[in-house]
Amino acid sequence: MIELPYSSATDGIAWPALPDAQGAGILSILFQLDQTQWWPEARLRAAQHRQCEALLDHAWRTVPFLRPRLEKAGYRHGEPFDIGNWASLPPLTRADVAEAGDALLSTALPASHGAAGEIFTSGSTGRPLRAIRSQLWELFWRAFTNRDHIWHRRDLTGKLAVIRESGEGKAPWPDGSETPRWGSSSGALFDTGPCVSLNIRTSTEQQMDWLVRQDPDYLLTHPTVLQGLLAHSLEKGTRISRLKQVETLSEILRPATRALCAEVWGIPVVDMYTTREAGYLALQCPEHEHYHVQREGLLLEVVGADYKTVKPGETGRVLVTPLHNFAMPLLRYEIGDYAELGEPCPCGRGLPVLKRILGREQNMLVLPGGERRWPMLSSADIRRMLDIAPIRQYQFLQKSTETIELRLVVARPLTESDETALRDFVRDRFGHPFEVEFRYLDDIPRGRTGKYQDFLSEVRTS
Ligand SMILES: [Zn+2]
Repeated sequence: MIELPYSSATDGIAWPALPDAQGAGILSILFQLDQTQWWPEARLRAAQHRQCEALLDHAWRTVPFLRPRLEKAGYRHGEPFDIGNWASLPPLTRADVAEAGDALLSTALPASHGAAGEIFTSGSTGRPLRAIRSQLWELFWRAFTNRDHIWHRRDLTGKLAVIRESGEGKAPWPDGSETPRWGSSSGALFDTGPCVSLNIRTSTEQQMDWLVRQDPDYLLTHPTVLQGLLAHSLEKGTRISRLKQVETLSEILRPATRALCAEVWGIPVVDMYTTREAGYLALQCPEHEHYHVQREGLLLEVVGADYKTVKPGETGRVLVTPLHNFAMPLLRYEIGDYAELGEPCPCGRGLPVLKRILGREQNMLVLPGGERRWPMLSSADIRRMLDIAPIRQYQFLQKSTETIELRLVVARPLTESDETALRDFVRDRFGHPFEVEFRYLDDIPRGRTGKYQDFLSEVRTS
């Protein structure tokens, strides 16, 4: 067990540390999370049901948009809610949230939940969404941030480097920016080391140059930034000598990126599944590559087309009900992602398992017959492409059910036979004799939110 550098905020008290009120709140949650993770599934479910009832009571009383929905699903105020009726509660889509506006806000947030703060998120749908979160909910957020550090045995006194979504012009190359602590979540409890940041809209060369100069212990970034850095390292032999672990967030982490990180840098990647509007959905198991649903913080469902829970091994859409945000309760919120439910984890934790997180429906491949498939490239697939040609960056754009545009950044112009081999690869990999169009670019830019996707589709199906 790694030693945690507790920070004391009380005059004259060095040990055992006494944090401030916020730090004490986070610690009290963490103390319980340390135990609940080992609870059997049934016990966790029962405890979660109790919190769900408190949330529903609050939603029925103070959230105008949710009251009729709850009543339609058989909710009677003051009576125990039959969780068997849960599936009859209609999912809340992003469009519903936008349409509901202020009717989705609580008219009476309990004073003990603190003030409400506003954030905006656009996701990959490009539809801006406003979410209101209470200070109490943020306390839970901070506890889960620290759970991730503890699960993955990070030495908090080390240096953390961050390359992630950052405002225009912030933390520019060559210096980036620096703060004395990792962040407000761990900084409220621990004497952490420093955190350095670089703007995500920098080139891979600039990122690598900055990382080598910073020489951090940990790197937090998007999977596609990591993929670019690893490809660069593979080509130039550059190393970041002290780096112990990479944490990824915000985009889908491909198994191929994990494998490449182990191969090129010899260190593990720890991924997390989190959204701004719903908080931590799932964290990577400390002992396996799959994810544990953060059941103490939310009710997460993976449902089929009929909105009923799928079986382990099956894929479905993700619905979330954050349990502690009373400012803007989201009940069965359809986040827009697909995931595969897993079997219980051999590590012994009772928290449900997500085997894979697959991302957004609009990025599925559509075959001429209407069949939809996930166009995930395996490690072997990517290696096959690299063996064909010196590809630095790629992106597939499905333009119709017959045409795929392959966008490429290449180290040298491709020959006709390279293109033929790539065309055959696309047809073979995606299971249809697609028309393949090539487009050569100097750079494939990130989307508006800083996210990068390697498969996009313009095919709209009803
Ligand atoms: Zn586990």
